[in-house]
Amino acid sequence: FIPIITVDGPSGSGKGTICRLLSQQLGWHLLDSGALYRLTAVAARHHGIPMTDEESLKVVAAHLDVQFLAGTAAEIKIVLEGEEVTDAIRTEAIGADASIVAAMPSVRQALLQRQRDFAALPGLIADGRDMGTVVFPEARLKVYLDASAEERASRRYKQLISKGLSASLEDILLDIQARDERDMNRSISPLKPAPDAVILDTTQLTIEEVLEVVLDEAKH
Ligand code: C5P
Repeated sequence: FIPIITVDGPSGSGKGTICRLLSQQLGWHLLDSGALYRLTAVAARHHGIPMTDEESLKVVAAHLDVQFLAGTAAEIKIVLEGEEVTDAIRTEAIGADASIVAAMPSVRQALLQRQRDFAALPGLIADGRDMGTVVFPEARLKVYLDASAEERASRRYKQLISKGLSASLEDILLDIQARDERDMNRSISPLKPAPDAVILDTTQLTIEEVLEVVLDEAKH
C-alpha cells in the first residue's frame, strides 16, 4: 500500500509550493503533473508539431524522453531529450500551450500511466488538476486548493517582479481567467474538487497556515 496525497486546484493557488514543502517534510516523492503537459508542449515545439495536431501530440506525450533529477532540496532538475528545460517549461507561452494539449483526450490518456508510475514508497504528493478525480481516485487524502483569481494574479505578479522580470498585473489576471475557463470547462477531466476532497480557500492564508492544515489532515 502506497500512501498518496493529491493536491488539485487552479493556476496560482499555491499548489506547487505546498506540494514541494509537503514532499520535503514527509520525505515523499513528488509528481508535478503540470510539468508533463508543459513538457509535451515543449517537445512538440522542438519537433515543429503544431498545437492543433492531436494525433502527433499524442505520440509526443507517449514517448516523452524526460528525466526528473533530484537537485537541491527545493528544486528538481528536468531534462528533456538530454537538454535541461527546468526553467524553459515555466514561461507563460508554454503554460498556454500546455493547457491546449491538456484538453486533448488522447494526450491525457498517453500520460496517465506515466503519472501513476510516480507512486512509490514511502509515499507520493501528486500536484495537478485531476489527481484526486482521475489519476489517483484511491488517494488517502485529497486536497483542493482555491483562491480568488485576483489573489492568484497578485501572487504571480509578485513572483515575477521578485525575479526581476517585468509584468502587468492586468495581463496576468486575464491570462489566469482564460486558463481557469479552459481548465474548468473542457470536456475531459475538467478541474473540479473530488467529492471527498478537503477544500481550502487560501486567499487569506499564508503558505505556513495551508501547510499546517494539510499536515494535520494527513495525520487522521
Ligand atoms: O500546473 P501547471 O500550470 O504547470 O499546468 C499547466 C497546464 O497543464 C494547466 O493549465 C492545465 O491546463 C494542465 N494540467 C492538467 N492536468 C494536470 C496538470 C496540469 O490539465 N493534472
